[in-house]
Amino acid sequence: MGPQRFETIFDYTRQGVDVGVRCACGHGARLDRRALSRTCITNGLDTRMPAIKARLKCRAGGSRDVGCSSLERD
Ligand SMILES: [Zn+2]
Repeated sequence: MGPQRFETIFDYTRQGVDVGVRCACGHGARLDRRALSRTCITNGLDTRMPAIKARLKCRAGGSRDVGCSSLERD
């Protein structure tokens, strides 16, 4: 099993996993893959992960120093 590549939000929907976000301050969040892709499509936003990551901001500290990973669903 090789490492999976998540280049766009659609790779998350295809794999059936959510987007896990972790901030440098330790705050974490789970973003629903369908809600996120819908937001991108509705607003005509870039669906590539670097662009999505650049739009994210920590809810706790307001930092943009966040990292994304894939989160399995229960
Ligand atoms: Zn933070």
